Amino acid sequence: MSVRETVANAVRSKFGTQFADKMVIANFRNGAWDDFKIQAFQDLPMSPATHVLHYGSSCFEGLKIHRQLDGGDRVFRLDRHIQRLQTSAQLLCLPVPDANQVQQMLAALVEECRDWIPDHPGALYVRPTLLGTLPSIGAAASPSTEAMFFIIISPVGDYFSGGLRPLKLKLDDQNFRTSPAMGMVKCGGNYAMALSHIQKAREEFGVDQVLFAPGGDVQETGAANFFMINAREVRTKKLDTSFLHGVTRSSLLTLAADLGYKVTEDNITVNELLEWLPKGEAALSGTAAVLAPVGEFVYNSKSYQVGDGGIGEHTTRLRNGLLAIQNGSAEDKYGWMTRI
Ligand SMILES: *Cc1c(COP(=O)(O)O)cnc(C)c1O
Repeated sequence: MSVRETVANAVRSKFGTQFADKMVIANFRNGAWDDFKIQAFQDLPMSPATHVLHYGSSCFEGLKIHRQLDGGDRVFRLDRHIQRLQTSAQLLCLPVPDANQVQQMLAALVEECRDWIPDHPGALYVRPTLLGTLPSIGAAASPSTEAMFFIIISPVGDYFSGGLRPLKLKLDDQNFRTSPAMGMVKCGGNYAMALSHIQKAREEFGVDQVLFAPGGDVQETGAANFFMINAREVRTKKLDTSFLHGVTRSSLLTLAADLGYKVTEDNITVNELLEWLPKGEAALSGTAAVLAPVGEFVYNSKSYQVGDGGIGEHTTRLRNGLLAIQNGSAEDKYGWMTRI
C-alpha cells in the first residue's frame, strides 16, 4: 500500500490509533538535552524501575498540522503549545524542553513524513510527550533527573466518527476531575483521576462525558473546555489553576469577540448553567473536537435539554470560523498558522 492509501485508511479509523512510521526523540542526561534523532516508530526500551512507571512523571501536548486548501502545511499555534508543555514540565519537576529544540524536532520529523499529512478535513495530530526516565523506585519524593522527550504523529479524520452530533453530558457537582493545583497541567495523572467518574456516568446514564462542577463551580470535562453560547454572548470560566488552559478556548474567544459576540470570562455556577440551557447553546472545545455541541445534560438523574437539543447556530458559526482559519480558506489575521 502507498503512504497516501495508508493515510486515507488512517483518517477513517479510530482517532489516535494510526501513526506515521517515524518519530523523533531526545534524552536529558547529566543536566542537558542530547541531540535529537529521527528513528522508526518503535517501542521504548526502559527499566521496569523507570520513574514515570511508578510516580507518574509525565506530561504531553496535542496539536495539529493542517494541509492548506491551496497546498502547503501549517501548524496551529505551536508557540502556545510549547509554552504549555514547558509549564506542565515545570509543575511536574521534569527537565523543561527547550522551545527551539522542540520546534526543530517537529520540523525535522515533518520534513521526513510530509506524505503522512492528510488533506482537509483530516489533519496531522502531533503528540509531544515528556517522561521521567530515572531508573529508581527510591525517587518517590524527588524529581527524575533523567528524561525522554519524543514526538509521534497521527493522521486523523473527524473526531466524531459518523459526523458531528450533539453530545450528552453528566453535570457532576460532587466530584473533582483532578486536584485544584494540578488542573492546568496536561498530564496523564489528571486523566487517571477523572476516569472512574466518567466510566460510572457512562454506565449509569449513557453519557459521552462528565462536566465537572465541584461544589457548583463549572470547570471542564475530562478532556475539553466548556462554553455557553447564544446570539449575543460567549461565556466560559475565567482562567485559574483548576482547569486546563485550552489553546482552542483562547482562540475561540478571540474569534468570538471579532465576530461581535460579547465575551465573558467568569466563574459559572451550576444554577447559572441550568438557567441558560432552555434558550442557549452549550459546547466543548479542544484540539481534537474543535467546538463540539452539547445537546443534553443529566443532573441529579434528571435530563435537561439544551435549546432544541440539536446543533446550535452560533456553535456552528464559531466552529466553522476556526476551521476556515485552520484550512487556509479564511485569512489568518492573528498569525496563528506557521509554515512547517
Ligand atoms: C488538552 C486539554 C484540553 C484542550 O486544550 P486545547 O489546547 O484546546 O487542545 C482541555 N482540557 C483538558 C483536560 C486537556 O487535557
